[in-house]
Amino acid sequence: MPVTIGALKESAPQETRVSLTPEIADKLAKEGAQVLMERGAGERARFPDSAYKNVAWAEGPDPVLAAADVLLAVQPLTVAQIAQLKPSAVVIGFMQPHARAAEVRALKQRGLTAFAMELVPRISRAQSMDALSSQAAIAGYKAVLIAASQLQKFFPMLTTAAGTIRPSQVLVIGAGVAGLQAIATARRLGAVVEAYDVRSATREQVKSLGARFVETGVSAEGTGGYARELTAAEKAQQQEALDARIAAADAVVTTASVPGRPAPKIISRAAVERMRPGSVVVDIAAEQGGNCELTRANEVLEHQGVRIVGPVNLAADLAYNASEMYARNLYNFLKPALARGELVIDWNDEVFAQSCLTRGGEIRHEATRKALGGET
Ligand code: NAD
Repeated sequence: MPVTIGALKESAPQETRVSLTPEIADKLAKEGAQVLMERGAGERARFPDSAYKNVAWAEGPDPVLAAADVLLAVQPLTVAQIAQLKPSAVVIGFMQPHARAAEVRALKQRGLTAFAMELVPRISRAQSMDALSSQAAIAGYKAVLIAASQLQKFFPMLTTAAGTIRPSQVLVIGAGVAGLQAIATARRLGAVVEAYDVRSATREQVKSLGARFVETGVSAEGTGGYARELTAAEKAQQQEALDARIAAADAVVTTASVPGRPAPKIISRAAVERMRPGSVVVDIAAEQGGNCELTRANEVLEHQGVRIVGPVNLAADLAYNASEMYARNLYNFLKPALARGELVIDWNDEVFAQSCLTRGGEIRHEATRKALGGET
């Protein structure tokens, strides 16, 4: 029996992305799968139903939920949606395991196999499946465009008949995937860019993009390429050195995060008060609590003339490209398990094993199991 692969119109109000694009729906059909989608699923990402070939359409989400052997999603499914899936179904998407206890429990209790795209190991072979990176790059790009549009200054230096305009100074805090894209984007727009990260490995990457690396004398190498949390003394030292650079910046873009933890607070109220009126902070860690003390998620506020923007789900602002990239990530993840239209998961494959959140009535991801009080 060919596998039925389903995709819904995302139900979260701010979610404009779609998990299946025409390109990937076509590829899955060519692999022998049956693709079943909810009508209008791609509309908000500007993929009209008419752009999809070889897809069966359902009115509303219920028939898709009832028939899918594999359900591809962007946002975590709701508990009510999970209740409608077949017990044998496989769900693949972002699961936000540390924020969605009720949903994780529902997946477990239904005995479903759920793969969380956040948990795909960051090994070379899995780069084409790395949805955290593809979506973070979009967020970094968009954050700089927001900063440029909020600022009442040019980014580039201009030499005009009315005299020379100095370029804007941009500071990017956190030079991971989003931060590096933010640096590249700000440079393309002609700003003078500085960047800072607690991981010293980023120094060379920052410099290679034509930005200056801010030295604070603090290193926070953690395991697995991620940062560890800093001690109080380290934080104070970092803060002191950074505050001076924050005060000098016209626009600050913050992207710092530590996996599974609230975002580190890096810009204090006092640091904002040292910034020049008209300066801008775009805090893309807003959803995780923000890197700036004053950030409020989904709001633009002004403090002593400094604008603080706390955008959420920035990737959805570029829904077309974000969906293209995300759908390709999903396809690259799923393809090794598709054999002549059937689903065969090789549990010895570390990508499947490590990204599995629930299976057979158990929570398979250890950190999530611990966070939920050790229950299996
Ligand atoms: P992330 O979103 O978890 O964090 C963003 C950045 O914030 C990181 O660079 C982190 O070091 C930094 N940060 C954390 N605390 C900070 C603080 N207090 N001050 C300043 N900066 C702080 O990270 P990410 O963008 O997802 O990437 C994490 C790492 O994984 C990077 O080294 C990246 O290159 C690597 N990576 C590897 C692969 C792969 O090998 N397949 C794929 C993607 C990313």
